[in-house]
Amino acid sequence: MLNIKIEKTNTPKELPGVDNPLKFGTIFTDHMFIMNYETGKGWYDPRVVPYQPISLEPSAMVFHYGQEMFEGLKAYKTADGRTLLFRPIKNVERANKTNRRICIPEIPEEDFIQALKTVVKVDEAWIPTKEGTSLYIRPFVIATDPFLGVRPSNQYLFMIILSPVGAYYPEGLNPVKIWIEDEYVRAVKGGIGEAKTGGNYVASLRSQVKAHEEGYSQVLWLDGVDRKYIEEVGAMNIFFKIDGRIVTPELNGSILPGVTRDSVIGLCNEWGIPLEERKISIDEIYDAYQKGTLEEVFGTGTAAVISPVGQLRWEQNIMQVQDGSIGPISQKLYDTITGIQLGKIKDTHNWTVEV
Ligand SMILES: *Cc1c(COP(=O)(O)O)cnc(C)c1O
Repeated sequence: MLNIKIEKTNTPKELPGVDNPLKFGTIFTDHMFIMNYETGKGWYDPRVVPYQPISLEPSAMVFHYGQEMFEGLKAYKTADGRTLLFRPIKNVERANKTNRRICIPEIPEEDFIQALKTVVKVDEAWIPTKEGTSLYIRPFVIATDPFLGVRPSNQYLFMIILSPVGAYYPEGLNPVKIWIEDEYVRAVKGGIGEAKTGGNYVASLRSQVKAHEEGYSQVLWLDGVDRKYIEEVGAMNIFFKIDGRIVTPELNGSILPGVTRDSVIGLCNEWGIPLEERKISIDEIYDAYQKGTLEEVFGTGTAAVISPVGQLRWEQNIMQVQDGSIGPISQKLYDTITGIQLGKIKDTHNWTVEV
């Protein structure tokens, strides 16, 4: 059990109004959680303080070699006023998996959960309630040693910041257009692709800019070796419905193991929808498209939950999916997962945790 000190702000900000579009990641709540680490001392001084800038040495290691871990999950307000987190233990386990991969000290699971609950509770009034909105939670750890040599840091900051968010995609549940990248790669097996760390994102920016210039909102990555097998989308895992069966790339070491992905697999299994986790080549997708059996394509991630894909562009080929509308399975998954998150549908899996 952490002994978390709570220092409340004397100058609370005005809450965003119900009509504020809450553009993703732009508004932050009144408070944040922070805890220090030092080799020999462990994690210490857990506290909730007013949201504020932090001060670091320009030589802090995170600025130079990118030793940082982040997570993303959400809190929801139910109709009867309860605050729910969705499968937070999965995020905590994944955070520590990332930490191990990039030599950041682990954070005890129960302490991490306590920190999440505590800071969300303090800023509970910031959880928006309008359809499609939630409180996005961003835990992260940065290496803070003032040192330019390359080695794991001896000092870290673990922080949790909170941001009320509306629908992730401005297009809403309208299908997104996706660019299949055939020049750059995101990750390779043995690398850091399955860790949630900034390095994967910086590797993706060049392609994202290119895709945006071409009018596509997201990039779909192929594997880094053969440039042939489907991996995932920018910040989402990807699913295809081909001839009545759902397929998604198997976790192969270079794909981020999404919590939403896991939830979708669980629900499909429960509903008796055939689902396969396996290698999927881009040729297989294009073949299915040409045969008319590419029935649905959707991405899964905390931010958008389910994001239907309306168009895929691969080299000179444009694949139009579902004539630009959301498919029935995508819709059912979206309704079920958001229904559980909002406490509208009975949570038979014990996925939600009350704050
Ligand atoms: C976070 C993330 C996902 C989605 O994971 P969720 O736990 O479902 O939010 C997928 N891909 C990448 C690269 C990610 O960083």
